[in-house]
Amino acid sequence: MGLIHLEFIIEALSGLILSALLLHLIVTLRWHSPRFYKKSITLAMKNEKYYRTAMKNAPIILSVIDAKGIFIFSEGRGIKTLSQDADDRIGRSIFNVYKDYPGLLSATRRALAGETLTIQQDIGPYTFDAQMTPMYDAKEQVIGVIFVALDVTERVRVEQALRHQACYDFVTGLPNQILLRERVTQELQTQERTNLALLLLDLDHFQEVNDTFGHQQGDLILQQVGQRLCHAVDASATVGRIGGDEFVILLPGADEENVREAMVSIYHVFDLPFLIEEFPMHIEASIGIALSSTHETDFSTLFRQADVAMYIAKRKHSGYIFYQPELDPYTPRRLGLLGALRAAIADNELALYYQPQIDLQTGIIHSVEALIRWNHPDYGCVPPDQFIPLAEQTGLIQPLSIWVLEEAIRQCANWLQRGIQLTISVNLSTHNLHEADLPTRIARLLTHYALPARYLCVEVTESAVMTDIGQAVEILNQISEMGIKIAIDDFGTGYSSLAYLKHLPVNELKIDRFFVKQMITDPIDATIVQSTVKMARDLGLKVVAEGVENQETSNLLADYACDCGQGYFWSRPVPALELELWLVKTKSVVVV
Ligand code: C2E
Ligand code: CA
Ligand code: CA
Repeated sequence: MGLIHLEFIIEALSGLILSALLLHLIVTLRWHSPRFYKKSITLAMKNEKYYRTAMKNAPIILSVIDAKGIFIFSEGRGIKTLSQDADDRIGRSIFNVYKDYPGLLSATRRALAGETLTIQQDIGPYTFDAQMTPMYDAKEQVIGVIFVALDVTERVRVEQALRHQACYDFVTGLPNQILLRERVTQELQTQERTNLALLLLDLDHFQEVNDTFGHQQGDLILQQVGQRLCHAVDASATVGRIGGDEFVILLPGADEENVREAMVSIYHVFDLPFLIEEFPMHIEASIGIALSSTHETDFSTLFRQADVAMYIAKRKHSGYIFYQPELDPYTPRRLGLLGALRAAIADNELALYYQPQIDLQTGIIHSVEALIRWNHPDYGCVPPDQFIPLAEQTGLIQPLSIWVLEEAIRQCANWLQRGIQLTISVNLSTHNLHEADLPTRIARLLTHYALPARYLCVEVTESAVMTDIGQAVEILNQISEMGIKIAIDDFGTGYSSLAYLKHLPVNELKIDRFFVKQMITDPIDATIVQSTVKMARDLGLKVVAEGVENQETSNLLADYACDCGQGYFWSRPVPALELELWLVKTKSVVVV
């Protein structure tokens, strides 16, 4: 039966299949003239030798196997690619000839079961697109499979080169955003594993490297950073560059603890200096980390969260920060707040509360701190810790600070006119210290409300000053020259470096409330407060202890010779009128 079949098939082949092949060949070669088609076909039909020659030269491989997988026909120039001769295969089983290619064999089995399919198959250094079509007899039984294979090695090579170009950063050779996105998507689709950490690293002050040494040197540094990062992480991680001085590290399967472990070696990357023209150069990075543990997360969400955390890490000089929704200026609540905050400033919805600072030796109040309050109709009383960072991140801090300054100066002038002598302290943000016209605007307000400059004090934190110490010093000098006092706020939480104090026109130190709060119970905090008071006094600075909540703390501070205390022990921040009533009741203010 095999032989009869074979004869039948060979006959059929010389007629039908060869014609079909020739048609395929003509189409493949894109001979587009219909007249030419017709003529060529007619000619070809007349001459079987012609078919054979055409077949041998066709830039494809046409093969036929019978129902058992035995090659009964195989022709085409493509066969030479495989260093094989057409005749070598005839009579042999495909399952033997291609025994090392399980993908091809399983596709063959499917075709023998009646399926038409196309596969791409690598054979040695070549790649073929192979179409498999079942062949039926009159009873609709599969009696074999026709293979048409096309050598697509060159096309695939070009496609791969294009893909490489599209997916890898050309400076560092690392995966770019497109590939990182793909990897994250793949990783999050893996059923059993959803933990994934995305770290976004932004090099600090890299623009200065570029400006000083040029972009070519800058690129060399980026390459060094990329290489070191690749060595710092294990093989399952992906290190990529997404442009500028930003790198991404993907840590599949990592939870918070794993990330903290990985951070140890990632940090070592920046321990050793980088070399630019043999000059050692220290570079640091701020890192934002987003963690995923659900299938719902996607690359864009993770990336945006890491970006929010990175921005805060940079602002706080804190190295690395894990994303938390509370930090995010773009959560729906925050977006709602942001819109409302704009309106609140314009519509005067904000209020200033005042908290007295008590002279610990005399009990008299010479100064108050102005603290902003926002009572929103829907959100309720929004604490400043929630909306000040939002204002800082969105540029609203400038109009907000001007509003605070004007309101504080107006209130202070009003008290002064009524014989209540109080210095008023106003908090400034990092961004305010980058506004070149801030001193002029304050001067105009003082003139407008006829308030002598000595009644105003501005509070700035150490980190606000350190963000750009050059510009901060310039602005603070101008403010100080006007006669306005300057206080360092939250002292002890930031750099706590005395070295910079001598460059600044500082009048006052405010010891952070977290040390003060625990000084009764924690001897270390007590020592910190005591030595800070001593140091400040040695430098001729006034010292204010914040967060005094009880009599013992007040007494201890007085023993340490701290000048002033501020805290709930005496009064919470209250509206101006309430403060006035309290001052009258406690007889603790100088009225002239
Ligand atoms: P800050 O400048 O350190 O202000 C002192 C904070 O400590 C105030 O919180 C005050 O209510 C709180 N406080 C005072 N005494 C005690 C006490 O005895 N115990 C405790 N636990 N806390 C006490 P508040 O008003 O919520 O302000 C928080 C922060 O918001 C301020 O910290 C300041 O950094 C910022 N802020 C407030 N108003 C303004 C403003 O007008 N402009 C700017 N830029 N920042 C402001
Ligand atoms: Ca303050
Ligand atoms: Ca403070």
